[in-house]
Amino acid sequence: PPAVAAVPQTGAEGLVLLRRVGVVDPGSLDDYRAHGGYAALRRAFALGPAGVIREVTEAGLVGRGGAAFPTGRKWSATAQQPDHPHYLVCNADESEPGTFKDRVLMEGDPYALIEAMTVAGYATGAHRGYLYLRGEYPRALHRLRTAIDRARARGLLGEDVMGQGFAFDIEIRRGAGAYICGEETAIFNSIEGRRGEPRSKPPFPVEKGLFGKPTAVNNVETLVNVLPILIDGAQAYARTGTDTSTGTKLFCVSGTVARPGVYELPFGATLRELLELAGPPETLRAVLLGGAAGGFVRPDELDVPLTFEGTRAAGTTLGSGVVLVLDESVELPRVLLRIAEFFRDESCGQCVPCRVGTVRQEEALHRLKDRTGAAAAGDIALLREVGRAMRDASICGLGQTAWNAVESAIDRLGAFK
Ligand code: NAD
Ligand code: SF4
Repeated sequence: PPAVAAVPQTGAEGLVLLRRVGVVDPGSLDDYRAHGGYAALRRAFALGPAGVIREVTEAGLVGRGGAAFPTGRKWSATAQQPDHPHYLVCNADESEPGTFKDRVLMEGDPYALIEAMTVAGYATGAHRGYLYLRGEYPRALHRLRTAIDRARARGLLGEDVMGQGFAFDIEIRRGAGAYICGEETAIFNSIEGRRGEPRSKPPFPVEKGLFGKPTAVNNVETLVNVLPILIDGAQAYARTGTDTSTGTKLFCVSGTVARPGVYELPFGATLRELLELAGPPETLRAVLLGGAAGGFVRPDELDVPLTFEGTRAAGTTLGSGVVLVLDESVELPRVLLRIAEFFRDESCGQCVPCRVGTVRQEEALHRLKDRTGAAAAGDIALLREVGRAMRDASICGLGQTAWNAVESAIDRLGAFK
C-alpha cells in the first residue's frame, strides 16, 4: 500500500478515525488543536476517571488489535487494582501480515494517539505510558517522537497535564522485527530487557503486567476510538455499527484489488460493499479475513457482515481488519506454505506444540504442493492432528492459531482436493 493514508473511504456516517489523516499537518500541534485536538482530554478531566470508563463501557468499545475484548472492562479492572504503580502500554507492534492501519493513524495523526494514551492513563490511574512501536515503522517513530516532545513542551504531558494536577508521560520503545513481541506479555518482557517470549495467562496484565504491576494494554486503533467517544458521547458513538460491534472499523485491503489501502467503514457493512470500494478482481478465488490466523471467505459468501459476530458466524474472524483478496491466478498451496513458513519462522520456540508443530505443518504443506486427492489424504490427516495439538496446548495465540488459515482452506475452499 502507499506509505500514508492510502485511500480513505467511508460509508454514510463519514470518517471518524481517519478524519484528520491527510488533512492535518502531522508535525503541528496547533493544527491538531485547530482540528478538534485535545477536546477529548478536556472532557475526560471534566468527567473524572470513573466517568471516562463509564463512557467507554457504554459506548461498547472492544479491542481492535484482533481479540475484541471490552475496553471498559479492561480499564475498570486495571483502575481497581490496589497494587501500584499502574502502567499503560500501547501495542503499536503492528505485525500481523496484511495489517497496516495503525501505521496510517500514527503517521497521519500522531497527536491523536498521544492524546488518547493520556486519556487512558488518566482513566486507569497510570502515570507512565509505554508506546511499543514496530521497529519497521521509522516514519511513525519520527512523527510520534516529535509529537511527544511538542506535547510535553506545551504542558500536555509531564508533571501537571493541562494544569489539572495529573502527571503522565510517554516513552517509546521499539521492537526489533520479531512478530511475537506484539503479544502483550512478550512486550512486557521486551520492555523489561528480557527475551521477547510470552508469559502464561492468567494472571492477566490488568492484575500483573509490566514489571509485575497492573497494566492496561491497548492497540493503537482502540485508543484512537476513545476520542470520538468522549467528544460525541457514548450514545452517539454507539449509534454507528451494530448492537455488539459499535463504531467504525479500519480495514486493510490488499492483494488483487484495484485500490489497495486502509478503508474506514461502519461495522455491519458487508464484505461485498468493501470490495466494491477497493475494486474487486474479475475472477475472485477467495478473501482471507483476519490475517494469517484468520480464515477464508468464498466468492458466494461476500454478503457476510463485517462485524465480530458476523465473521465468527461465517467461520472466520475480523481479527485486526485484514482483507487479503486472492484472484484465480493465485496458487493457494503456495499462499498456505508462505503462511506456514511465517509461523515457523516467528515461533519463539518456548513451547513444544508450537515449536515442533509449526515445523511439521510447513513440511506437510511442502509435500502437499504437488499432491491432491488420495495422495494428499495422509498429510491432511497429519495436519489436522498437529493443528489440534497446537491449538489445544500452545502457550500463546501464535501457536493456538497457526493452523487456522490452513484448516479453513482445506475445509472451506477444498484445498488439495
Ligand atoms: P486474548 O483473547 O488472550 O486477550 C485479549 C485481551 O483481553 C488481552 O489484552 C487480555 O489481557 C485481555 N483479557 C482476556 N481475558 C481477560 C480477563 N479475564 N481479564 C482481564 N483481561 C482479559 O488475545 P491476545 O492473545 O491478546 O490477542 C490475540 C489477537 O491478536 C488475535 O485475534 C490476533 O488477530 C491478534 N493479533 C494482532 C496483530 C496485529 O498486528 N494487530 C498481530 C498478531 C495477532
Ligand atoms: Fe512461543 Fe509459539 Fe509457545 Fe507462543 S505458542 S509461546 S510463540 S512457542
